[in-house]
Formats: sequence, structure tokens, C-alpha cells
Amino acid sequence: MKKITLCLILLVGTSYSINAQKINLGKAAGIVSNGAKALTFTNGDAIKLSKESVDWMDKNNPVAGPKDPYTVRLNKLFGKHKSQDGLNLNYKVYKVKDINAFACADGSVRVFSSLMDIMTDNELLAVIGHEIGHVKNQDTKDAMKSAYMKAAALDAASSASSTVAALNDSQVGKMANAFLDASHSKKQESEADTYSYDFMKANKYDVVGAYTAFKKLALLSQGSTQTGFEKMFNSHPDSEKRAQAIKKRAEKDGLWKDPGTVSLPASKLTK
Ligand SMILES: [Zn+2]
Repeated sequence: MKKITLCLILLVGTSYSINAQKINLGKAAGIVSNGAKALTFTNGDAIKLSKESVDWMDKNNPVAGPKDPYTVRLNKLFGKHKSQDGLNLNYKVYKVKDINAFACADGSVRVFSSLMDIMTDNELLAVIGHEIGHVKNQDTKDAMKSAYMKAAALDAASSASSTVAALNDSQVGKMANAFLDASHSKKQESEADTYSYDFMKANKYDVVGAYTAFKKLALLSQGSTQTGFEKMFNSHPDSEKRAQAIKKRAEKDGLWKDPGTVSLPASKLTK
């Protein structure tokens, strides 16, 4: 078991078994140094390093092929949002057991197949909207900077360089993993939720999907075993709160339709 907190809607403070490829960072992680202050880190740097990190993760995780049902499904949902809001987005499915998704500054969005197994299309759209929100809000810049610092093992002693240096392959791996371990602030999560709600509304998707997605995550966090899905989440008190925030907005907008009791699916969802 390894703890990951990351940009997904689902993942703040969750803990679950890891099947996505990760490497042990050991002592390299956790360095916060004077070097950080000296380093000039631009949006361009964040984009470039994000791309390197995602390329590394794509190489080290089982990516669903173009004809894979997961890819076909994601294409159907995401295809029309490739150029959403002035962003140039690309997306892929990792066929792994983790329930997760993430977005990077370069516009890469990765959705994990186990997340798709428990979410309806409408709920996935809410997740996608949330991830686009993180890209749009440039939330991953700080996470990328910190991941870079860790990977390059920058500290006060090596702070002579004030610009981002090229990393070797193993450093890129470290950076990718440090990035995956990074978490967004509550404020960033809440803003991405708002973005997602607006995205759903503007595209005339059912905003209740954002609510039910969080309700499912809340169920997972309660360790529900009703479905036979692996118990993957520990306590995640935010999901319920975030679901209620969405409900409130939907009610205010006259878009609320009571979905009834939300439960986790008994078998894998395909739409
Ligand atoms: Zn998020």
C-alpha cells in the first residue's frame, strides 16, 4: 500500500494498492530547499517537464490501444473536448487497478480503467471536466516544480543554477513519480469542481453526474464491500461535502434531479 494524493476529483487523501508503475523514490523525495527559491520556473518549464513526465508514464504503464473498448469509450466522451477552452488536450487510458485520473500542464489527461469501471459516462464527463479545470487553472505548475526539484535533488548546495536543467532518464522517472505523489490544495480542488460543474452545464450534460460521482467516491471511502470491488479507499471526508456543494448549485440553477440512493455498480460499467 502506498499513499497517493493527486489531482483527481477522487483522490485527496486516499490510500489504495498500486498497480500503476511507480518507482521507489526513497530519500530523494521531500527535499525542500533554498534552491527552490533561486530557481526560475516558468509555465513553459512546467509544460516541458509535464510532457517528459507523461511520456515516461505512458512508457511504463499499460496504455489501452486504439481499438480497446476503454479507448473507444473515452474517445466518445472526450473526443469533442480536445480543444476545450483554448487548451490542446490529449488523453489515454491506463489499464490499471488504481481508481484514478490526472491532468498535466501540457494538456495530457490520463484516465485509469478502474475508474471507468465504476463511473457512468455522465460521471466520467464530470471527472474529465474537473481535470480540464486543473489544466486551465495551471494547478499543476507548482506540483511540477516541486517534482522537478526532487528529481534533480536540488538543494542549497546546487542552487547555483537558476534555470531548469535537462534531466536524465532515471531523473525523469523520479520526477514523474513525485508528480503523481503531489496533491492540489483544497482551494484548487474546489475551483476544479466549479469548473467541472460549469463545463457540464455549458455542454448540456447532466450536472447531477458530478454529484453521483462524488457519492460513489464517498462510498468507496467508507470501505463499502457491497460490490466486490477492492476496498481501495480510506477515509475521504471531502467527497460527501463536495457532493453536497454540487447539489446546492444544481438546486439553485433548477438543474437538480434527485438520483435516489447512489450505490457502487455490481459489475463493470461500459457506458
Ligand atoms: Zn482534482
